[in-house]
Amino acid sequence: MTAVEVSHLRENPFELAREQLRRVADTFQIDPNLVAVLGRCKKAIEVSVPVGMDDGSTQVFTGYRVTHNVARGPSKGGIRYHPDVTLDEVKSLAMWMTWKCALMGIPFGGAKGGIVCDPKSMSRGELERMTRRFTSEIINEIGPEKDIPAPDVGTDGSVMAWIFDTYSMNKGHSVLGVVTGKPLTIGGSLGRTEATARGALFVIRDAVAKQDRSIAGMKVAVQGFGNVGSYLARFLHEEGATVVAISDSRVGLYNPKGIDVPAALAHKSEAGTLAGLKDAEQITNEELLLVDCDLLAPCALEQVITEENADKIKAQIICEGANGPVTPSADAILEDRGVLILPDVLANAGGVVVSYFEWVQGLQEYFWKEVEVNAKLNDIMSRAFDETWETAQSRSLPMRVAAYGLAVQRVAEATVTRGIYP
Ligand code: NAD
Repeated sequence: MTAVEVSHLRENPFELAREQLRRVADTFQIDPNLVAVLGRCKKAIEVSVPVGMDDGSTQVFTGYRVTHNVARGPSKGGIRYHPDVTLDEVKSLAMWMTWKCALMGIPFGGAKGGIVCDPKSMSRGELERMTRRFTSEIINEIGPEKDIPAPDVGTDGSVMAWIFDTYSMNKGHSVLGVVTGKPLTIGGSLGRTEATARGALFVIRDAVAKQDRSIAGMKVAVQGFGNVGSYLARFLHEEGATVVAISDSRVGLYNPKGIDVPAALAHKSEAGTLAGLKDAEQITNEELLLVDCDLLAPCALEQVITEENADKIKAQIICEGANGPVTPSADAILEDRGVLILPDVLANAGGVVVSYFEWVQGLQEYFWKEVEVNAKLNDIMSRAFDETWETAQSRSLPMRVAAYGLAVQRVAEATVTRGIYP
Protein backbone atom coordinates (compact mmCIF):
# COMPACT_ATOMS: atom_id res chain seq x y z
CA MET A 1 0.00 0.00 0.00
CA THR A 2 1.36 3.44 -0.84
CA ALA A 3 1.96 5.64 2.20
CA VAL A 4 -0.83 8.13 2.80
CA GLU A 5 -0.19 11.27 4.77
CA VAL A 6 -3.78 11.80 5.88
CA SER A 7 -5.60 8.84 7.45
CA HIS A 8 -8.72 7.59 5.69
CA LEU A 9 -10.42 7.67 9.10
CA ARG A 10 -12.26 10.97 9.59
CA GLU A 11 -14.13 9.86 12.71
CA ASN A 12 -13.15 7.45 15.49
CA PRO A 13 -14.31 4.10 14.05
CA PHE A 14 -14.79 2.41 17.43
CA GLU A 15 -17.04 5.26 18.57
CA LEU A 16 -19.05 4.83 15.34
CA ALA A 17 -19.34 1.08 15.91
CA ARG A 18 -20.55 1.68 19.47
CA GLU A 19 -23.03 4.29 18.24
CA GLN A 20 -24.42 1.71 15.78
CA LEU A 21 -24.71 -0.79 18.64
CA ARG A 22 -26.63 1.70 20.82
CA ARG A 23 -29.03 2.53 17.96
CA VAL A 24 -29.71 -1.15 17.34
CA ALA A 25 -30.07 -1.89 21.05
CA ASP A 26 -32.74 0.85 21.34
CA THR A 27 -34.65 -0.45 18.34
CA PHE A 28 -34.54 -4.08 19.51
CA GLN A 29 -34.92 -3.25 23.22
CA ILE A 30 -31.79 -5.03 24.34
CA ASP A 31 -31.02 -4.91 28.08
CA PRO A 32 -28.64 -1.96 28.78
CA ASN A 33 -26.54 -4.24 31.02
CA LEU A 34 -25.87 -6.45 28.02
CA VAL A 35 -25.19 -3.46 25.79
CA ALA A 36 -22.54 -2.38 28.30
CA VAL A 37 -20.89 -5.80 27.93
CA LEU A 38 -21.18 -5.92 24.13
CA GLY A 39 -19.90 -2.36 23.72
CA ARG A 40 -16.46 -3.35 25.05
CA CYS A 41 -13.73 -5.59 23.66
CA LYS A 42 -12.85 -8.67 25.73
CA LYS A 43 -9.13 -8.28 25.11
CA ALA A 44 -6.83 -5.94 23.20
CA ILE A 45 -3.11 -6.43 22.99
CA GLU A 46 -0.42 -4.21 21.54
CA VAL A 47 2.97 -5.67 20.67
CA SER A 48 6.17 -4.23 19.30
CA VAL A 49 7.54 -6.03 16.27
CA PRO A 50 11.25 -5.41 15.65
CA VAL A 51 12.33 -6.39 12.14
CA GLY A 52 15.78 -6.56 10.56
CA MET A 53 15.37 -4.67 7.29
CA ASP A 54 17.20 -5.50 4.06
CA ASP A 55 19.44 -2.41 4.39
CA GLY A 56 20.81 -3.61 7.73
CA SER A 57 18.69 -1.28 9.87
CA THR A 58 16.12 -2.39 12.45
CA GLN A 59 12.61 -1.04 12.25
CA VAL A 60 10.13 -1.48 15.09
CA PHE A 61 6.50 -1.86 13.99
CA THR A 62 3.40 -1.76 16.21
CA GLY A 63 0.99 -4.70 16.01
CA TYR A 64 -2.46 -5.28 17.52
CA ARG A 65 -4.73 -8.24 18.13
CA VAL A 66 -8.18 -7.58 19.55
CA THR A 67 -10.86 -10.06 20.60
CA HIS A 68 -14.27 -8.44 20.85
CA ASN A 69 -16.47 -11.33 22.01
CA VAL A 70 -16.37 -15.13 22.31
CA ALA A 71 -19.90 -15.88 23.58
CA ARG A 72 -20.73 -17.91 20.44
CA GLY A 73 -17.34 -19.56 19.82
CA PRO A 74 -13.65 -18.85 19.25
CA SER A 75 -12.93 -15.42 17.83
CA LYS A 76 -12.29 -14.97 14.13
CA GLY A 77 -11.00 -12.03 12.14
CA GLY A 78 -8.50 -10.77 9.61
CA ILE A 79 -5.09 -9.16 9.94
CA ARG A 80 -4.56 -5.81 8.23
CA TYR A 81 -1.21 -4.37 7.08
CA HIS A 82 -1.71 -0.67 6.39
CA PRO A 83 -0.02 2.61 7.42
CA ASP A 84 -3.28 3.98 8.93
CA VAL A 85 -4.04 1.04 11.28
CA THR A 86 -5.01 2.22 14.78
CA LEU A 87 -6.12 0.34 17.89
CA ASP A 88 -9.62 1.85 17.66
CA GLU A 89 -9.90 0.81 14.01
CA VAL A 90 -8.96 -2.75 14.93
CA LYS A 91 -11.48 -2.70 17.81
CA SER A 92 -14.30 -1.56 15.50
CA LEU A 93 -13.42 -4.22 12.94
CA ALA A 94 -13.37 -6.86 15.72
CA MET A 95 -16.84 -5.79 16.88
CA TRP A 96 -18.20 -5.98 13.32
CA MET A 97 -16.75 -9.51 13.03
CA THR A 98 -18.80 -10.56 16.08
CA TRP A 99 -22.00 -9.30 14.43
CA LYS A 100 -21.06 -10.80 11.05
CA CYS A 101 -20.45 -14.29 12.43
CA ALA A 102 -23.68 -14.14 14.44
CA LEU A 103 -25.71 -12.97 11.44
CA MET A 104 -24.30 -15.85 9.38
CA GLY A 105 -25.08 -18.30 12.19
CA ILE A 106 -21.51 -19.64 12.28
CA PRO A 107 -19.96 -20.58 15.66
CA PHE A 108 -17.43 -17.77 16.03
CA GLY A 109 -16.98 -14.55 17.93
CA GLY A 110 -15.19 -11.51 16.54
CA ALA A 111 -11.53 -10.49 16.43
CA LYS A 112 -9.20 -8.43 14.28
CA GLY A 113 -5.51 -7.64 14.08
CA GLY A 114 -3.17 -5.34 12.29
CA ILE A 115 0.30 -3.93 11.94
CA VAL A 116 1.00 -0.26 11.27
CA CYS A 117 3.22 -0.63 8.19
CA ASP A 118 3.34 0.02 4.47
CA PRO A 119 3.53 -3.48 2.95
CA LYS A 120 3.88 -2.12 -0.59
CA SER A 121 7.24 -0.57 0.31
CA MET A 122 8.58 -3.72 1.99
CA SER A 123 10.44 -6.65 0.42
CA ARG A 124 9.06 -10.18 0.67
CA GLY A 125 11.81 -11.05 3.15
CA GLU A 126 10.94 -8.06 5.36
CA LEU A 127 7.24 -8.98 5.25
CA GLU A 128 8.02 -12.58 6.18
CA ARG A 129 10.26 -11.60 9.12
CA MET A 130 7.66 -9.07 10.35
CA THR A 131 4.84 -11.63 10.09
CA ARG A 132 6.79 -14.36 11.88
CA ARG A 133 7.82 -12.03 14.72
CA PHE A 134 4.25 -10.71 15.07
CA THR A 135 2.94 -14.30 15.18
CA SER A 136 5.46 -15.15 17.92
CA GLU A 137 4.38 -12.11 19.92
CA ILE A 138 0.69 -13.15 19.80
CA ILE A 139 1.26 -16.92 19.88
CA ASN A 140 -0.49 -17.37 23.24
CA GLU A 141 -3.52 -15.42 22.03
CA ILE A 142 -4.27 -17.41 18.84
CA GLY A 143 -5.11 -21.07 18.19
CA PRO A 144 -7.81 -23.22 16.56
CA GLU A 145 -10.05 -23.23 19.65
CA LYS A 146 -9.19 -19.69 20.66
CA ASP A 147 -8.70 -17.07 17.97
CA ILE A 148 -8.23 -17.70 14.26
CA PRO A 149 -6.73 -14.98 12.00
CA ALA A 150 -7.39 -14.57 8.24
CA PRO A 151 -6.40 -12.15 5.45
CA ASP A 152 -7.58 -8.54 5.29
CA VAL A 153 -6.28 -5.38 3.57
CA GLY A 154 -2.59 -5.77 2.71
CA THR A 155 -2.33 -9.45 3.68
CA ASP A 156 -2.83 -12.58 1.57
CA GLY A 157 -2.29 -16.35 1.41
CA SER A 158 1.51 -16.00 1.75
CA VAL A 159 1.13 -14.08 5.02
CA MET A 160 -1.30 -16.75 6.30
CA ALA A 161 1.23 -19.47 5.31
CA TRP A 162 3.94 -17.77 7.44
CA ILE A 163 1.54 -17.47 10.41
CA PHE A 164 0.58 -21.16 10.03
CA ASP A 165 4.23 -22.23 9.79
CA THR A 166 5.45 -20.10 12.70
CA TYR A 167 2.65 -21.32 14.97
CA SER A 168 3.13 -24.95 13.88
CA MET A 169 6.92 -24.89 14.33
CA ASN A 170 6.46 -23.63 17.87
CA LYS A 171 3.86 -26.32 18.68
CA GLY A 172 5.95 -29.06 17.07
CA HIS A 173 3.27 -30.22 14.62
CA SER A 174 1.11 -28.75 11.85
CA VAL A 175 -1.94 -26.95 13.21
CA LEU A 176 -4.22 -26.47 10.20
CA GLY A 177 -6.99 -24.73 12.14
CA VAL A 178 -4.87 -21.84 13.46
CA VAL A 179 -5.42 -19.59 10.48
CA THR A 180 -7.64 -19.45 7.38
CA GLY A 181 -7.08 -18.09 3.89
CA LYS A 182 -4.10 -20.43 3.57
CA PRO A 183 -2.82 -21.47 0.13
CA LEU A 184 -4.38 -24.71 -1.17
CA THR A 185 -1.08 -26.62 -0.94
CA ILE A 186 -1.05 -26.31 2.87
CA GLY A 187 -4.69 -26.88 3.75
CA GLY A 188 -6.54 -23.92 2.29
CA SER A 189 -10.11 -24.32 1.04
CA LEU A 190 -11.14 -24.26 -2.57
CA GLY A 191 -13.18 -21.12 -3.19
CA ARG A 192 -11.72 -19.14 -0.23
CA THR A 193 -9.85 -16.53 -2.30
CA GLU A 194 -12.98 -15.53 -4.22
CA ALA A 195 -15.38 -16.15 -1.31
CA THR A 196 -15.96 -12.58 -0.10
CA ALA A 197 -16.81 -11.37 -3.60
CA ARG A 198 -18.86 -14.49 -4.40
CA GLY A 199 -20.87 -13.96 -1.21
CA ALA A 200 -21.45 -10.32 -2.20
CA LEU A 201 -22.61 -11.51 -5.63
CA PHE A 202 -25.14 -13.89 -4.00
CA VAL A 203 -26.49 -11.07 -1.82
CA ILE A 204 -26.74 -8.68 -4.80
CA ARG A 205 -28.57 -11.37 -6.79
CA ASP A 206 -31.08 -11.86 -3.98
CA ALA A 207 -31.55 -8.10 -3.54
CA VAL A 208 -32.15 -7.30 -7.22
CA ALA A 209 -34.51 -10.28 -7.47
CA LYS A 210 -36.63 -8.63 -4.72
CA GLN A 211 -36.87 -5.59 -7.01
CA ASP A 212 -37.80 -7.79 -10.01
CA ARG A 213 -34.54 -6.85 -11.69
CA SER A 214 -31.45 -8.80 -12.64
CA ILE A 215 -27.75 -8.05 -12.59
CA ALA A 216 -27.51 -8.31 -16.39
CA GLY A 217 -27.62 -4.82 -17.88
CA MET A 218 -26.97 -2.99 -14.59
CA LYS A 219 -24.32 -0.27 -14.50
CA VAL A 220 -21.84 -0.91 -11.71
CA ALA A 221 -18.97 1.03 -10.06
CA VAL A 222 -16.47 -0.81 -7.85
CA GLN A 223 -14.02 1.02 -5.57
CA GLY A 224 -10.88 -0.97 -4.69
CA PHE A 225 -9.38 -3.64 -6.92
CA GLY A 226 -7.86 -5.98 -4.36
CA ASN A 227 -9.18 -9.33 -3.21
CA VAL A 228 -12.79 -8.23 -2.78
CA GLY A 229 -13.16 -5.56 -5.50
CA SER A 230 -11.36 -7.32 -8.34
CA TYR A 231 -13.31 -10.59 -7.98
CA LEU A 232 -16.59 -8.73 -7.51
CA ALA A 233 -15.97 -6.70 -10.69
CA ARG A 234 -15.18 -9.96 -12.50
CA PHE A 235 -18.28 -11.80 -11.22
CA LEU A 236 -20.62 -8.88 -12.02
CA HIS A 237 -19.08 -8.55 -15.50
CA GLU A 238 -19.58 -12.31 -16.05
CA GLU A 239 -23.25 -11.93 -15.00
CA GLY A 240 -23.76 -9.34 -17.76
CA ALA A 241 -23.43 -6.09 -15.77
CA THR A 242 -21.60 -3.14 -17.33
CA VAL A 243 -18.75 -2.24 -15.00
CA VAL A 244 -18.42 1.51 -15.69
CA ALA A 245 -15.81 2.40 -13.04
CA ILE A 246 -13.05 0.70 -11.03
CA SER A 247 -10.19 1.99 -8.88
CA ASP A 248 -7.22 1.13 -6.73
CA SER A 249 -5.26 3.29 -4.29
CA ARG A 250 -3.41 4.95 -7.21
CA VAL A 251 -6.10 5.63 -9.80
CA GLY A 252 -9.81 5.54 -10.70
CA LEU A 253 -10.97 4.58 -14.21
CA TYR A 254 -14.29 5.37 -15.89
CA ASN A 255 -15.87 4.27 -19.15
CA PRO A 256 -19.66 4.67 -19.44
CA LYS A 257 -19.70 1.97 -22.15
CA GLY A 258 -17.98 -0.50 -19.81
CA ILE A 259 -14.44 -1.24 -18.63
CA ASP A 260 -12.84 -4.34 -20.14
CA VAL A 261 -12.69 -6.19 -16.80
CA PRO A 262 -10.59 -9.21 -17.96
CA ALA A 263 -8.06 -6.73 -19.44
CA ALA A 264 -8.07 -4.78 -16.14
CA LEU A 265 -7.41 -7.99 -14.16
CA ALA A 266 -4.53 -8.91 -16.47
CA HIS A 267 -3.11 -5.37 -16.32
CA LYS A 268 -3.33 -5.25 -12.50
CA SER A 269 -1.62 -8.61 -12.10
CA GLU A 270 1.16 -7.62 -14.52
CA ALA A 271 1.71 -3.97 -13.55
CA GLY A 272 0.61 -4.18 -9.90
CA THR A 273 -1.67 -1.16 -10.47
CA LEU A 274 -4.62 -0.14 -12.64
CA ALA A 275 -2.71 2.99 -13.73
CA GLY A 276 -2.02 2.84 -17.45
CA LEU A 277 -5.06 0.73 -18.41
CA LYS A 278 -6.28 1.79 -21.86
CA ASP A 279 -9.81 2.77 -23.02
CA ALA A 280 -10.89 4.50 -19.84
CA GLU A 281 -10.94 8.05 -18.53
CA GLN A 282 -8.87 8.69 -15.41
CA ILE A 283 -10.92 9.81 -12.37
CA THR A 284 -10.26 10.13 -8.65
CA ASN A 285 -11.48 7.70 -6.00
CA GLU A 286 -13.88 10.43 -4.78
CA GLU A 287 -15.32 10.89 -8.28
CA LEU A 288 -15.79 7.15 -8.66
CA LEU A 289 -18.36 7.17 -5.86
CA LEU A 290 -20.47 9.73 -7.70
CA VAL A 291 -20.55 8.27 -11.23
CA ASP A 292 -23.84 7.47 -12.91
CA CYS A 293 -24.53 3.81 -12.02
CA ASP A 294 -27.22 1.49 -10.59
CA LEU A 295 -24.98 -0.32 -8.12
CA LEU A 296 -22.01 1.07 -6.20
CA ALA A 297 -19.68 -1.35 -4.41
CA PRO A 298 -17.12 0.30 -2.10
CA CYS A 299 -14.52 -2.47 -1.64
CA ALA A 300 -11.49 -0.58 -0.24
CA LEU A 301 -11.51 1.14 3.15
CA GLU A 302 -13.83 2.63 5.79
CA GLN A 303 -15.59 6.01 5.82
CA VAL A 304 -15.52 6.81 2.10
CA ILE A 305 -19.22 7.72 1.97
CA THR A 306 -19.86 10.57 4.39
CA GLU A 307 -22.36 13.39 4.94
CA GLU A 308 -20.31 15.37 2.40
CA ASN A 309 -20.97 13.13 -0.59
CA ALA A 310 -23.98 10.96 0.38
CA ASP A 311 -26.53 13.26 -1.27
CA LYS A 312 -24.59 13.21 -4.57
CA ILE A 313 -24.44 9.44 -4.96
CA LYS A 314 -26.45 8.28 -7.97
CA ALA A 315 -26.55 4.52 -7.34
CA GLN A 316 -29.83 3.09 -6.01
CA ILE A 317 -28.06 0.12 -4.42
CA ILE A 318 -24.84 0.20 -2.37
CA CYS A 319 -23.14 -3.11 -1.66
CA GLU A 320 -20.59 -2.78 1.17
CA GLY A 321 -17.72 -5.02 0.06
CA ALA A 322 -15.50 -3.10 2.49
CA ASN A 323 -16.12 -2.93 6.23
CA GLY A 324 -17.63 0.36 7.39
CA PRO A 325 -17.47 2.35 4.10
CA VAL A 326 -20.61 4.39 5.00
CA THR A 327 -20.57 6.62 8.11
CA PRO A 328 -23.75 6.75 10.26
CA SER A 329 -24.51 10.33 9.17
CA ALA A 330 -24.22 9.31 5.51
CA ASP A 331 -26.40 6.30 6.30
CA ALA A 332 -29.20 8.60 7.47
CA ILE A 333 -29.02 10.69 4.26
CA LEU A 334 -29.03 7.60 2.04
CA GLU A 335 -31.92 6.06 4.04
CA ASP A 336 -33.99 9.23 3.47
CA ARG A 337 -33.22 9.06 -0.23
CA GLY A 338 -34.42 5.43 -0.39
CA VAL A 339 -31.05 3.98 -1.40
CA LEU A 340 -30.89 0.25 -0.62
CA ILE A 341 -27.74 -0.47 1.40
CA LEU A 342 -26.54 -4.07 1.60
CA PRO A 343 -24.58 -3.71 4.86
CA ASP A 344 -21.03 -4.99 5.39
CA VAL A 345 -21.97 -7.60 8.01
CA LEU A 346 -24.16 -9.24 5.36
CA ALA A 347 -22.58 -8.29 2.02
CA ASN A 348 -18.94 -9.15 2.73
CA ALA A 349 -19.54 -12.12 5.05
CA GLY A 350 -18.70 -14.68 2.34
CA GLY A 351 -15.04 -14.57 3.35
CA VAL A 352 -15.63 -15.57 6.94
CA VAL A 353 -18.18 -18.20 5.92
CA VAL A 354 -15.64 -19.98 3.71
CA SER A 355 -13.01 -19.39 6.40
CA TYR A 356 -15.36 -21.35 8.67
CA PHE A 357 -15.49 -24.10 6.01
CA GLU A 358 -11.66 -24.05 5.82
CA TRP A 359 -11.40 -24.36 9.61
CA VAL A 360 -13.88 -27.30 9.65
CA GLN A 361 -12.05 -29.02 6.76
CA GLY A 362 -8.70 -28.48 8.53
CA LEU A 363 -9.95 -29.90 11.84
CA GLN A 364 -11.36 -32.96 10.03
CA GLU A 365 -8.46 -33.16 7.55
CA TYR A 366 -11.13 -33.89 4.92
CA PHE A 367 -11.43 -31.47 2.01
CA TRP A 368 -14.47 -30.59 -0.06
CA LYS A 369 -14.99 -29.97 -3.79
CA GLU A 370 -15.31 -26.35 -4.92
CA VAL A 371 -18.95 -26.85 -6.01
CA GLU A 372 -19.77 -28.02 -2.49
CA VAL A 373 -18.05 -24.99 -0.96
CA ASN A 374 -19.89 -22.56 -3.26
CA ALA A 375 -23.28 -24.27 -2.79
CA LYS A 376 -22.94 -24.24 1.02
CA LEU A 377 -21.84 -20.59 0.85
CA ASN A 378 -24.91 -19.74 -1.21
CA ASP A 379 -27.18 -21.50 1.32
CA ILE A 380 -25.77 -19.54 4.26
CA MET A 381 -25.68 -16.17 2.44
CA SER A 382 -29.23 -16.53 1.10
CA ARG A 383 -30.60 -17.59 4.47
CA ALA A 384 -28.96 -14.56 6.11
CA PHE A 385 -30.23 -12.29 3.33
CA ASP A 386 -33.81 -13.62 3.69
CA GLU A 387 -33.77 -13.25 7.49
CA THR A 388 -32.45 -9.69 7.19
CA TRP A 389 -34.89 -8.75 4.42
CA GLU A 390 -37.82 -10.22 6.38
CA THR A 391 -36.84 -8.34 9.55
CA ALA A 392 -36.35 -5.10 7.62
CA GLN A 393 -39.74 -5.40 5.89
CA SER A 394 -41.74 -6.53 8.91
CA ARG A 395 -40.33 -3.81 11.18
CA SER A 396 -39.86 -1.07 8.52
CA LEU A 397 -36.14 -0.84 9.21
CA PRO A 398 -33.13 -0.22 6.99
CA MET A 399 -31.24 -3.42 6.09
CA ARG A 400 -28.29 -2.37 8.28
CA VAL A 401 -30.37 -2.00 11.43
CA ALA A 402 -32.16 -5.28 10.68
CA ALA A 403 -28.85 -7.14 10.11
CA TYR A 404 -27.17 -5.70 13.22
CA GLY A 405 -30.36 -6.26 15.22
CA LEU A 406 -30.52 -9.96 14.38
CA ALA A 407 -26.82 -10.35 15.09
CA VAL A 408 -26.73 -8.41 18.36
CA GLN A 409 -29.79 -10.30 19.65
CA ARG A 410 -28.04 -13.62 18.95
CA VAL A 411 -24.88 -12.60 20.78
CA ALA A 412 -26.93 -11.16 23.65
CA GLU A 413 -28.89 -14.43 23.93
CA ALA A 414 -25.68 -16.47 24.00
CA THR A 415 -24.28 -14.19 26.71
CA VAL A 416 -27.41 -14.56 28.85
CA THR A 417 -27.51 -18.34 28.32
CA ARG A 418 -23.87 -18.74 29.34
CA GLY A 419 -24.19 -16.20 32.17
CA ILE A 420 -21.63 -13.62 33.16
CA TYR A 421 -18.64 -15.43 34.69
CA PRO A 422 -18.29 -16.02 37.64
P1 NAD B 1 -6.78 -5.74 -0.52
O1 NAD B 1 -5.58 -5.26 0.15
O2 NAD B 1 -6.72 -7.00 -1.31
O3 NAD B 1 -7.35 -4.61 -1.52
C1 NAD B 1 -7.64 -3.30 -1.11
C2 NAD B 1 -7.88 -2.46 -2.35
O4 NAD B 1 -8.22 -1.14 -1.96
C3 NAD B 1 -6.65 -2.33 -3.26
O5 NAD B 1 -7.06 -2.31 -4.60
C4 NAD B 1 -6.09 -0.96 -2.88
O6 NAD B 1 -5.35 -0.40 -3.93
C5 NAD B 1 -7.37 -0.21 -2.62
N1 NAD B 1 -7.17 0.96 -1.76
C6 NAD B 1 -6.32 1.10 -0.71
N2 NAD B 1 -6.39 2.33 -0.21
C7 NAD B 1 -7.32 2.98 -0.94
C8 NAD B 1 -7.84 4.29 -0.91
N3 NAD B 1 -7.41 5.18 0.02
N4 NAD B 1 -8.78 4.61 -1.81
C9 NAD B 1 -9.19 3.70 -2.72
N5 NAD B 1 -8.73 2.45 -2.80
C10 NAD B 1 -7.80 2.11 -1.93
O7 NAD B 1 -7.93 -5.82 0.58
P2 NAD B 1 -9.27 -6.67 0.56
O8 NAD B 1 -9.00 -7.95 1.25
O9 NAD B 1 -9.84 -6.67 -0.81
O10 NAD B 1 -10.18 -5.81 1.54
C11 NAD B 1 -10.93 -4.69 1.09
C12 NAD B 1 -12.05 -4.40 2.08
O11 NAD B 1 -12.87 -5.56 2.20
C13 NAD B 1 -11.60 -4.06 3.51
O12 NAD B 1 -12.53 -3.18 4.08
C14 NAD B 1 -11.70 -5.41 4.21
O13 NAD B 1 -11.84 -5.25 5.61
C15 NAD B 1 -12.95 -5.93 3.55
N6 NAD B 1 -13.11 -7.38 3.65
C16 NAD B 1 -12.17 -8.24 3.15
C17 NAD B 1 -12.38 -9.61 3.24
C18 NAD B 1 -11.43 -10.61 2.66
O14 NAD B 1 -11.74 -11.80 2.70
N7 NAD B 1 -10.29 -10.22 2.11
C19 NAD B 1 -13.54 -10.11 3.87
C20 NAD B 1 -14.48 -9.21 4.35
C21 NAD B 1 -14.26 -7.85 4.24
